[in-house]
This record gives sequence, C-alpha cells and structure tokens, in this order.
Amino acid sequence: MAKSKRVLFQLQCTVCKSKNYTNSKNPDNIALKRKSQDTKLNLKKFCKRCRKVTEHKEVKIA
Ligand SMILES: [Zn+2]
Repeated sequence: MAKSKRVLFQLQCTVCKSKNYTNSKNPDNIALKRKSQDTKLNLKKFCKRCRKVTEHKEVKIA
C-alpha cells in the first residue's frame, strides 16, 4: 500500500452547490495533524457564483 498517496477532491460552495475549486491532499498528514479520523475540509472561499466568500466543503470527484 502506498504511504504517500494524494487524494484529489473538489471544494463545493455550501450555499449554491457550485464546485469552485479542485485541490489535493495527503489524508495521512491531515489525520496526523488533527489527531482524528475526520479529514474533511471546510474552508471559507470566494464563490464566483455567490460573488462572496462562503463556506466550501470537500466533495469527492466523481
Ligand atoms: Zn456559491
């Protein structure tokens, strides 16, 4: 099993559900930093559809 695999995900606006950003992460690093199994990200990002900064949540790329 690869130890340093990075996972691609998108950040989806929680207001309009628009997927505005694509990002990648190393789930192992995040799990270590947060000392938890929950590696989901929630970030405040600018949404071009809402035209303001909104909460974005991590979603898997289909
Ligand atoms: Zn939005």
